[in-house]
Amino acid sequence: MPVFKTCHSGDPPEDKLNSFSRILEDLQKLFGLGATQLNIFWKPEDEELMGFNRNKAIYLNLAHYSEKRTASDDNSLAATYVAWYFVIPHEIAHNLAFFHDEDHELLFSSIAQTWFVDLKQLVESKAPRATKHGPYSNGVIPTLPS
Ligand SMILES: [Zn+2]
Repeated sequence: MPVFKTCHSGDPPEDKLNSFSRILEDLQKLFGLGATQLNIFWKPEDEELMGFNRNKAIYLNLAHYSEKRTASDDNSLAATYVAWYFVIPHEIAHNLAFFHDEDHELLFSSIAQTWFVDLKQLVESKAPRATKHGPYSNGVIPTLPS
């Protein structure tokens, strides 16, 4: 997968690029996206940015993956697949809804729901030893303040 970078951002770490590419190629296949519809960019000066949509093509930030979402075991690999899985329908929904409004939320939800079973199968095949993992793995979900 080609990497877009600015002239002053330097070269991305090869190992992170390879592991990120593998994950995104799996997700590209899952969503049936064409070769130019999913792209990687390297912007280490803005690692909070996960991705954006430009002209109906999705760009995902290797720097965010590299700093915050690297997979080291099955639990973190599963969490990484799930996290990037949800970014993609968010960005696809921007093809029809520019703002983060109700239309965008409905589109995002319906796209994410459509491929959710495929995501489950993908995660089970890539991270078979993953267990419930993450900030709410104790089963207590956040509630609104009363
Ligand atoms: Zn957005």
